Amino acid sequence: MDHRPDLSGLEQHDLEQALAGLGRPRFHARQIFQWIHKRGITDFELMSDLGRDFRRELDDRFDIVTPVVLGRERSSDGTMKFLLRLADGRKIESVYIPDTPSQTFCISTQVGCAMRCAFCLTGRMGIDRNLTAGEIAGQVRVLARELDMLDSRFNIVLMGMGEPLHNYDATMKALRILADEHGLAVSPRRVTLSTVGVLPALEKLATEPVMPNLAISLHSTTEDQRDMLMPINSKYGLKELLDACRRFPVKRRERITFEYVMLDGVNDTPEDARRLVRLLHGIRGKVNLLPLNEAAGIPFERPSDERVNRFAKILADHGVTVSVRKSRGRDIRAACGQLITESSKADAPGKRLASLMTMGR
Ligand code: SAH
Repeated sequence: MDHRPDLSGLEQHDLEQALAGLGRPRFHARQIFQWIHKRGITDFELMSDLGRDFRRELDDRFDIVTPVVLGRERSSDGTMKFLLRLADGRKIESVYIPDTPSQTFCISTQVGCAMRCAFCLTGRMGIDRNLTAGEIAGQVRVLARELDMLDSRFNIVLMGMGEPLHNYDATMKALRILADEHGLAVSPRRVTLSTVGVLPALEKLATEPVMPNLAISLHSTTEDQRDMLMPINSKYGLKELLDACRRFPVKRRERITFEYVMLDGVNDTPEDARRLVRLLHGIRGKVNLLPLNEAAGIPFERPSDERVNRFAKILADHGVTVSVRKSRGRDIRAACGQLITESSKADAPGKRLASLMTMGR
């Protein structure tokens, strides 16, 4: 592995610090930041507004770590799933979802996930490691460059692999890098962070000067059932989570999204819907129903459209704003909860990887 310090995860002021010892003017930090984050250029040699000697010096001393695209699959609905290789050979997936109506990148915050929700395939992997801020922001830069979208407007959802609040510092730093006006300038208003509700981190998020939109993976209306579906609940329970949401400083005209995965015959009855209405009373929120994306090894079924609609109607009749998430990219396993890689077997591409690579564009 390369031992040169990585510049990809540094905010502009940290980049200035890192370059301070070279005795060059400060504004070079901004130029380099722009090359990396706005233009997606990670080869110092191509940074044409820096002197040749300086470029060589930078290359001797520093690295700009960037995920490598190993494969991409395209769904019939236009959704694209990218398999990315990190510097240490581990692999993650990131997804591009077009026209929702906006353009959205769904990115990962960890290799695998420690939360082990019973219906989620990523949870099956367990946690391998946290992503660095550079790797989190890097996914956006790499996908945007691949898709020729560096100058386009897009949204970001932290709904790929991993639990963002279980990797708090790197996630927040990545959001600051992405928000920087000299980089991709993605306003936090266009970012949604989805979490199971790691309470200490959620409390910390509530104090951040700039905050993404918040989505809470609720998925159940009773402590017992949520314990079973989401092991985190035995540590940070439903009641405490909803209390924290009540206290959360939701901006004017904004609301917390409550995600609710629908499991046939498990949490999709009219009683569940009515309990959900009561639980959300007094919270500035809306509900997004996620009919289960089925996968081999997931011991639940997707409810019929009738059951989903009946549930949605009860919420709506009680004044709760509700939407049903249209699954995107199910045919390529790019939909929620379907991201999984053979990360630990890093450099030995398995069958799945081989099939990913041959699918092409
Ligand atoms: N760790 C974060 C981000 C996860 S993915 C979180 O839990 O919020 C985003 C959403 O997809 C979460 O609400 C997650 O519970 C949901 N999800 C997981 N598996 C799913 C599946 N098989 N079908 C539908 N949604 C699923």
